Amino acid sequence: MSMTTSASVPAGSTDAPASSGTVTDRLVEANAQYAAEFTDPGMDARPVLNVAVVACMDARLDLHAALGLDLGDCHTIRNAGGVVTDDVIRSLTISQRALGTRSVVLIHHTNCGLESLTEDFRHELEMEVGQRPAWAVEAFRDVDQDVRQAMQRVRTSPFLLHTDDVRGFVFDVKSGLLREVDPA
Ligand SMILES: [Zn+2]
Repeated sequence: MSMTTSASVPAGSTDAPASSGTVTDRLVEANAQYAAEFTDPGMDARPVLNVAVVACMDARLDLHAALGLDLGDCHTIRNAGGVVTDDVIRSLTISQRALGTRSVVLIHHTNCGLESLTEDFRHELEMEVGQRPAWAVEAFRDVDQDVRQAMQRVRTSPFLLHTDDVRGFVFDVKSGLLREVDPA
């Protein structure tokens, strides 16, 4: 195959050795392979299962594999800790009000990086750069309590349409198993 009109792959990139270039170059190469086998599933933007999953960004948590999800099934909203910040509420509000989701699943996990931080992180940052960040670190000690707090923030948000099906879990990075956290 020579040049295609739809892809912005540079000419000759298919023969380029994978070892050269940055990690991003590697990802872009992988995408060309993905796109070559991709067929338009013809879906619209509304998640098939009407669910939004809020989870930690942790690299060991493969949400689609761990939850048996397929392309188009859900919204995934991720950040450090899976914390329900104002921006997560923003995404959930759009998810529910514009794109029809009704259920919220919150997933934190064992051995989270936020367990080893404290709010001192914020102070140290301020000392270093001369400016205090507007955001909280949201470090925690008790993962169950952190999940409960996340559930509470979703349930009490005035912006969300559906807060009756909100469940929280801890994913075990060693076993791959989810454990549900009692909201009480
Ligand atoms: Zn984490």
